[in-house]
Amino acid sequence: MTPLETEIRAMIAQEGPMPLERYMALALGHPTLGYYMTRDPFGASGDFVTAPEISQMFGELLGLWAAEVWTMMGAPAPVRLVELGPGRGALIADALRAAAVAPAFRAAVSVELVETSPALRKRQAAALAGVGLPVAWRERLEDVPDGPMIVLANEFFDALPVRHYVRVGEGWRERLVGLGPDGALAFGVAPFAEPAIAVPAPEGAVMELSPIGHRVAATLARRLARDGGAALIVDYGHLRSGFGETLQAVRAHRYADPLRDVGEADLTAHVDFASLGEAARRAGAAVHGPIAQGALLRRLGLAQRAERLARGADEAGARAIAAATHRLAGAGADAMGELFKAVAFAHPDLPAPPGFETQGAPPA
Ligand code: SAH
Repeated sequence: MTPLETEIRAMIAQEGPMPLERYMALALGHPTLGYYMTRDPFGASGDFVTAPEISQMFGELLGLWAAEVWTMMGAPAPVRLVELGPGRGALIADALRAAAVAPAFRAAVSVELVETSPALRKRQAAALAGVGLPVAWRERLEDVPDGPMIVLANEFFDALPVRHYVRVGEGWRERLVGLGPDGALAFGVAPFAEPAIAVPAPEGAVMELSPIGHRVAATLARRLARDGGAALIVDYGHLRSGFGETLQAVRAHRYADPLRDVGEADLTAHVDFASLGEAARRAGAAVHGPIAQGALLRRLGLAQRAERLARGADEAGARAIAAATHRLAGAGADAMGELFKAVAFAHPDLPAPPGFETQGAPPA
């Protein structure tokens, strides 16, 4: 049993079963024992691989996106370049390197990294050593100082805790984590239905809600609508809201039991882009997309970027670049191009950001 599981079992023994949302928050973000707090989970030797870890092209294209958005904003100086959950710092380092083609943008930037993990803050500092720009770390988006900003978030929202309600009889009961007869962690439901939710559904249906993600989206949207700017959010998720749970645990590139190896396996849930966009719209931002990650990267010039990189590479290098291009933008289960989606939130007066121009108005 992990030390965090011992601690959570003790909490439950003392206070009773806890909402899934709190369990997930502890498993990922417990101040000393949470998954992200203690380790570097990325890469081939870690638990999972993310787009910026697959290829430098991902961060480079997002860096060029940011530079173009800045021009559309009227080139405000200073401008905050914010990343939510920067992981190892690869995306922001690649973005800033690519932004060297827009020296006025780069000179106006101050970097703001929203990151709770001390272990990952260290990795990010190392990745940005010598970047020659001011870098500040913040605990929460709310701590980023006022002013125009451009925000990047890759695989951040899927790490935020979700809440589940299960259809039992005529009502919806919140999913809890409690102790089974053998004392091990076990899923259960609240003894009473939540009276505020009255959506019909078949027995056993699961409603997955992301109040924390929606709060972040609304905060982001309010800031963008007030001070100007845009945010690009890329994540694993679905376009339409619906019933069903997507909570999953991953350890060493394999699916795992979300109630085992507590604090040592990654827990995520797919992003419900329809609800996330609705939260941002209600808070005053224009919402562009969502579109597939593959479509976004192609429109931002992935093929040209790959070709340029391949020119300087040997044969093995060229093959690796082609493989990375497929993984980032290809269709099918072995690639991210269709499974991952991108959405942009922006000040309502800003034209559609790069990559989103061909999109019509979002469906009502
Ligand atoms: N964007 C990176 C890492 C994704 S993993 C990449 O694409 O590789 C999720 C990241 O979000 C980690 O850096 C994790 O420590 C951070 N994180 C998770 N929950 C957070 C929260 N509530 N507030 C701030 N950062 C958080």
